[in-house]
Amino acid sequence: MRRKIVAGNWKMNGSKDLAQTLVGYVRSQVESLDNGVEVVIIPPAIYIGDAAAQAGDALALGVQNVGRWGSGAYTGEISAEMAKDQGCRYALVGHSERRQIFGETDDEVAAKVERLVGSGLGAIVCVGETLEQREAGEAESVVAGQVRKGLAAVAPNQWSHVVVAYEPVWAIGTGKTATAQDAQAMHASIRKVLAELGAPAEEISLLYGGSVKADNAAALFAGPDIDGGLIGGASLVAEEFVSICRAV
Ligand code: PGA
Repeated sequence: MRRKIVAGNWKMNGSKDLAQTLVGYVRSQVESLDNGVEVVIIPPAIYIGDAAAQAGDALALGVQNVGRWGSGAYTGEISAEMAKDQGCRYALVGHSERRQIFGETDDEVAAKVERLVGSGLGAIVCVGETLEQREAGEAESVVAGQVRKGLAAVAPNQWSHVVVAYEPVWAIGTGKTATAQDAQAMHASIRKVLAELGAPAEEISLLYGGSVKADNAAALFAGPDIDGGLIGGASLVAEEFVSICRAV
């Protein structure tokens, strides 16, 4: 149910060494945090075992993507069930890099979400508008459409497995962030769409992502509808990532 979450998306970065040292350091720091934040490490899937060996009970693990099938002849894919088997609690779905570089559609996002929530994993569903869409005044409608389509297959008893991450595409890896006001407004709008879908909207965690750093995290997380963050670049720097976890 609704809780504070900081998730570190390593993307295609890191190494076995980083999975051991960074995760071990973050665990040692997070163990003494008393702000109720759930910290999730999302390394490349090949390093999940190395990260798990260091994560203990203090950290949760996730994968960056899953296939939309259970198992079978899908070379290169991993399934939700496999991620769960390896101790993962979450998977990202529909990150804008998956949508833009790999052509992932809302229908595929919906199919993956269905698999994830059906297998009991948490789906961190990423949504966000491009700069052109924001400048055309379409940001809210684009994001609302992604939320509606991506979550179309969630059954009434599965909402506790859903987290939504709002990541404006123009803020990812660019050093630009939404203003705290714009971020809060979009999160409030997402919560409204969730309510329209019949979800227990007040119970669902909503995260902001896009150039979150140690020095802007507290301001972004202050919005009443913002329950934490999805962190890319800054999640690869141990001290900075811990500072962001403290800022919730
Ligand atoms: P960033 O990435 O923090 O490097 O902007 C965020 C993300 O893509 O999840």
